[in-house]
Order: sequence, then C-alpha cells, then structure tokens
Amino acid sequence: MARERISHKSDSEILLMREAGLITAAALNAVREAIRPGVSTLELDQIADAKIKSLGGSSNFKLVPGYHHTICSSINDEVVHGIPSKDRILEAGDIISIDCGAIIPSGWNGDSAFSFVVPGGDPELMAKRQALSDACEGSLWAGIAALASATRLNEVGRAVEKAIRSKGAFGILQDYIGHGVGRSMHEDPAVFNYQTRDLGPVVENGLVIAIEPMITAGSQSVKILADDWTVSTKDGSDSSHWEHTVARHSGGIWVLTAEDGGAAGLAPYGITPVPVKS
Ligand code: MG
Ligand code: MG
Repeated sequence: MARERISHKSDSEILLMREAGLITAAALNAVREAIRPGVSTLELDQIADAKIKSLGGSSNFKLVPGYHHTICSSINDEVVHGIPSKDRILEAGDIISIDCGAIIPSGWNGDSAFSFVVPGGDPELMAKRQALSDACEGSLWAGIAALASATRLNEVGRAVEKAIRSKGAFGILQDYIGHGVGRSMHEDPAVFNYQTRDLGPVVENGLVIAIEPMITAGSQSVKILADDWTVSTKDGSDSSHWEHTVARHSGGIWVLTAEDGGAAGLAPYGITPVPVKS
C-alpha cells in the first residue's frame, strides 16, 4: 500500500474546521426541514447553497471539476453522487441521502451526509428503509466511537463493518470510502468501511477524517449512471449514506459537523466529545 501523506491539524486549525463543520451542519439541517413529497432535489440544493452563503461560507462541492451543485441527492437505489434536478421530485416513502460540504474563507472544509425517509409512504416500505438508514447511521457512530481510542486507523473500518453486520445482510460498498479532510475536502488517509488486511496508518492527534459508510439492502455491486456521476446499485436495492467530519486531538474526539459535537451519538458508547480549547 502506498504510503499516505497525512496532514495533521493543530488545535487552532481544528477550531477553524469546526466553523466549516457547523456551516455544513446548518445547511444539512435546512435541507432536512424542507424534505417532503413534491419538493425537487434542485430546490433542496438551492436551500443548502443559500444557508451556506448566509453563514459566510461557500460550497466546496462546486470546486470539484465538472460538478455544479452544492449537494448530492441520491434517491432509493442511488447510493451517492446523485445530481440535483428540477425534474427529480421526491415521493412519499422515498429514502434520500443528502451529502453536502462547506469551505470557509480561510480555506478549511466540512463534509457530512445523512439519509432520510420521506414521510407519508407505505408503512411497511418506510420501516424497511428506516431500518436501512438506522443501520448505516449506527455504523457511523460505531466508527466514530472506535476512532476515540484507535491506535491504527482500520480499527474504524472494523467497527463500522461489525456494526453493519450486526444489523442484517446489508451490502457495504467497496469502491467508495471515507477520507481525510482539511484544506482539501478529500485528502489522505483512506478511511475504509470494512476490515482490511493492513491495519492502516497509526492514529495521531490532529487527524481529521470523514467517516462515511455507504450500504445497500442487497448486493454491494454498483454502477455509474449515464450522467457520469450517479452511483446506483446494480440490483436496484435501496441504499443509505451517512457521514461526519471528525477530529481526534490531544483532548479527545470532536465531531466537527455535528452541532452537539457528537454528544448524542457517542453517549451509548460512554464517550463524551471534547471541543478543542480556543
Ligand atoms: Mg460527503
Ligand atoms: Mg466525504
């Protein structure tokens, strides 16, 4: 495995990344509140963009060559990288994953995603999709909890995989993984959502990573649609994606893209997130 170049962040840099993380969280909250049957994914994109700008940030997704939107919106069998469109209208019972990121003027990034089941659909279908989303979200928090005490990075992947497997026969994407976050939205190290033979890099203070499990209700096999962006399951099964940007620092762990720093999600693990001292 090629040696990775991890840029560790100082406490003051992590504080700046918290600003980017909170703007990202606010944008995702605004989108979540707007999700309902009949809304287009382009409307959700505009809501996220307006929120980010109102808080002094800008979209980092728009900095990705060839991508022109603030969110990715992926519905049902679409896993990630769905492109917002005025013609894509949410229906009751859909499961939608929203991925979003903000960059602040000093150049630091946030990156986060959630899945949501659109209210008002068939109860049995909605319950299945909610269980899928819950399994994915739960595995994210298991991974974050593992990072709090990890000595090697793949302890995160092991914890994510174990959490998913404990909830059912879900597919775990192999070709799409988490990553370091900093002055670039995507940087080293690679953050796998499953156990790898290599234990991964040694975890040191100042590591800031996006942990982002992507799972399906069926096979892990995916294809890229004709738009060259949307990643969709080959078997048509539903999917879910959850993500947070997380800092490990000398005082502990801090979920930069969660408004509460990760307190609620980490409570079941007996872990209290610790903000960096300003
Ligand atoms: Mg993301
Ligand atoms: Mg990411």
